[in-house]
Amino acid sequence: MSEFDLIRQFFTHPHSHTLLGVGDDAALIQPRPGKVIAVSSDMLVAGRHFFPDTDPYRLGKKSLTVNLSDLAAMGAEPRWVTLSIAIPSADPQWLKPFAQGFWEEAQAHRVDWVGGDTTSGPLNISVTIIGEVTADQALRRDAAKLGDDIWVSGTIGDAGMGLAILKNQVRWDKAHQDYCVGRLEQPSARVELGLRLVGLAHAAIDVSDGLIADLSHILKVSGVGATLDLEHIPMSAALKECPYPGQVREVMLSGGDDYELCFTASPDAEESILQLAGVAGTPVSKIGKVVEEPGVRVIDGKGKVFVPQRRGFDHFAEQSAQQQ
Ligand code: ADP
Ligand code: MG
Repeated sequence: MSEFDLIRQFFTHPHSHTLLGVGDDAALIQPRPGKVIAVSSDMLVAGRHFFPDTDPYRLGKKSLTVNLSDLAAMGAEPRWVTLSIAIPSADPQWLKPFAQGFWEEAQAHRVDWVGGDTTSGPLNISVTIIGEVTADQALRRDAAKLGDDIWVSGTIGDAGMGLAILKNQVRWDKAHQDYCVGRLEQPSARVELGLRLVGLAHAAIDVSDGLIADLSHILKVSGVGATLDLEHIPMSAALKECPYPGQVREVMLSGGDDYELCFTASPDAEESILQLAGVAGTPVSKIGKVVEEPGVRVIDGKGKVFVPQRRGFDHFAEQSAQQQ
């Protein structure tokens, strides 16, 4: 199969709001009036971000989800995407489900797949997502204010535990394990929630590297600190049943890959936030407060400060073969 057959067969799809899509030297796109472009890229490297034998359908879907999540955290509406991919060989058994997963996720979010690049090489997936947001309305990291409540969507730590399961570090009920691995391999991007938070939330980020690590990015650029109530961090039924409480605490605070939104908002906004989260169909929980003293203090159920072993994932701080 030639490069161009491959592009035609697997990577070319109809579009709905694009002037010129796959097939030319560049795609042509046009934002709607009053909107500015939000653009973000994420790379997924085999052996680094995912196990090379990951189910290709799940991997295709997740390659787009993690990018959608970045736009969700900006309060931007995803509109277009490009996929650049290096593949060891043109294996249709792998390409077909991979492209199917990516395409289904694109359709689910009304995103046009407008181009990319395809080469041979060690498996490496790079996605660029392009969205629209009303000028001056993006949910930026530097907008947290003293006295804000800190919120997260969904439940936290499931994907980190999924990774521990795949590494055979923990073992318990099969259904709960499958749930956690599912959360690692098939996360959801909270796009609808992000869009509804525009005008209400102050700062936002998606939890990809760990709750404390990602929240710290907000705090640092906003010039503030935070206290977090460990007991208020939302936990799935699977983690509640998990017989490794120490590890559960660690993945909730420092595990990555949940792709939930963490955001801050004025306490006055509480009612509205609960209401819009209901409409978006994504539960949200208030987990702490923005305070003056820099850094994150985690308070346990007994009012004591809890210090996690690690803060989150950093590709260059931990140069091990560790997967994330
Ligand atoms: P160029 O030589 O100009 O880089 P290519 O031959 O790489 O163009 O690609 C031909 C067309 O196919 C371009 O429109 C490009 O955007 C598209 N394309 C290549 N790879 C992909 C892919 N993985 N997904 C979607 N479109 C792709
Ligand atoms: Mg090219």
